[in-house]
Amino acid sequence: MNTTIEELERQLYIAKKVEREKNRNKKFLCVCGSKHRIRDCKIIHTYWYADSHSDWSKGELKIICPETYIRNRVMFEVRPEIEKGKRWAYSYNPLLQFSKEYKGLFNEVINDYGKEDGAYENNYYFDRNQDEFNIKIGEEFQY
Ligand SMILES: [Zn+2]
Repeated sequence: MNTTIEELERQLYIAKKVEREKNRNKKFLCVCGSKHRIRDCKIIHTYWYADSHSDWSKGELKIICPETYIRNRVMFEVRPEIEKGKRWAYSYNPLLQFSKEYKGLFNEVINDYGKEDGAYENNYYFDRNQDEFNIKIGEEFQY
């Protein structure tokens, strides 16, 4: 079969679109006790000002419960078996992977520059269900 690059790119584009829809419909267990779909929730991305960089740095992700409005702070356990120097590398950092793949799938992304003060609870659901959310620690990514 003679498959052109253009045809492969078209197939990849469609596959990514299908994957995106599937991911938007995934549910997580909220701290309120109910499960919500990613697409039905808003997410806050906090930023903090680092004087040493004279710039805003990305902070935490907090998903707002659509029923109670309490925030779910997206948490991943620190893994002592991963050496410190590697923890900020994409392939060793579950929060970076989650942020890249899922942040844009929420109903709305709210960027918060230091004003966020809503009540929140830590939520380890994504950490405990890494396979379901395609988080792969320690695998090298080419793209
Ligand atoms: Zn909830």
